[in-house]
Amino acid sequence: MERIYFDHAATTAVDGRVLQKMLPYFTEKFGNPNSQHAFGREAVAAVDEARDEIAKLIHAKPSEIYFTSGGTESDNWALRGAAHALKNRGKHLIVSAVEHPAMIATAKELIKEGFDVTFAEVDEYGRVDTERLKSAVREDTVFIGVMTANNEVGTLQPIAELSAFARARGIVFFTDAVQAAGIMKIDVTSPAVDMLSFSAHKFNGPKGVGVLYVRSGLRIGKIITGGHQERSMRGGTTNVPAVVGMAEALRLAQEEQEKNAAYIARLRDRFIGRVLREIPYVKLNGHPQERLPGNANFSFRYVEGESLLFSLDLAGIAVSSGSACSSGSLEPSHVLLAMGVPEGLAHGSIRFSFGADNTQEQVDYAVDRLKEIVVKLRALSPLFPKDLKNEVYPKRKEE
Ligand SMILES: *Cc1c(COP(=O)(O)O)cnc(C)c1O
Repeated sequence: MERIYFDHAATTAVDGRVLQKMLPYFTEKFGNPNSQHAFGREAVAAVDEARDEIAKLIHAKPSEIYFTSGGTESDNWALRGAAHALKNRGKHLIVSAVEHPAMIATAKELIKEGFDVTFAEVDEYGRVDTERLKSAVREDTVFIGVMTANNEVGTLQPIAELSAFARARGIVFFTDAVQAAGIMKIDVTSPAVDMLSFSAHKFNGPKGVGVLYVRSGLRIGKIITGGHQERSMRGGTTNVPAVVGMAEALRLAQEEQEKNAAYIARLRDRFIGRVLREIPYVKLNGHPQERLPGNANFSFRYVEGESLLFSLDLAGIAVSSGSACSSGSLEPSHVLLAMGVPEGLAHGSIRFSFGADNTQEQVDYAVDRLKEIVVKLRALSPLFPKDLKNEVYPKRKEE
């Protein structure tokens, strides 16, 4: 059975060209960049080159790039590091209600430490309500964090407006660009942000490595203490193969960005179009236009998201459910709830996320299987109203 991967928002395969670049740094070029000998210098050169490359790609200075263990650490560092460094100026922080758990959970920890956090509300499409966010700002607001694109529903946030607003008031502005990097062009000067995070494994780089960009002049606290790595801001021996791979993955992703984004958006549009026309009682979650090219998130009424996920998995199709059930809890997604999606519908939510390695044949195959599965699950569902017809519609000829 062919396996179809529609979960690119969760992680992606390492590009073969990236792997080739990384391999020597596991074996013959294994040196520790801190070492005072030729092996060390070889590693330093590789890390410097990766830092320069990444800085150039996102229009930053090399000294503004900090290597981390990934998106989660970068998000933690941005929020906690800024909060701690600025606490004498104010203890009010604003993050959107639809941030990744790396932000939400960190914000909740900071509340326990005595910080005050506003979780900025979003509209039905998952977009931050900019007027409400602005009116939440107080004298003691020191930090605003809003993601560039949401990982569950793909909605793009009004980052340019919010960062300009924050920075004009001397409030630090951070954006989690983990879903956007590699898929959209990242430029820390336009819109100008104070801090930005991304993670290599979301754009065909290796897992366990990411970046926190920190604008020069901005002082934040450390969260990992140790040696003098990363200009004494983040201790720990640099993961040399990983940073080399991340730089190459970002370079390739940016080089192929326009072509890939257009291709992926075509697959997504075909998928969304067919699902909405051929399967009744389905709602597309997220913004109809302002969304990532590869994301399609649906709520299927009268269907349990987990059952749908398992049935698709049996058919060889890998997707993600919109709820946090995978973590063992039966909590529906905080993102969908913040958007006002009713709990029942939120439980029937599935995220399909496409990549450049997907094909139109895979999209069509998945819609065909999805139609059969939804009919089967609704037939078994006690929630499916008896007066409704359990049917799907034929594919249109012109396709
Ligand atoms: C994946 C993801 C993260 C976490 O990144 P890791 O590198 O997996 O820790 C953070 N934010 C967003 C928006 C993500 O999609």
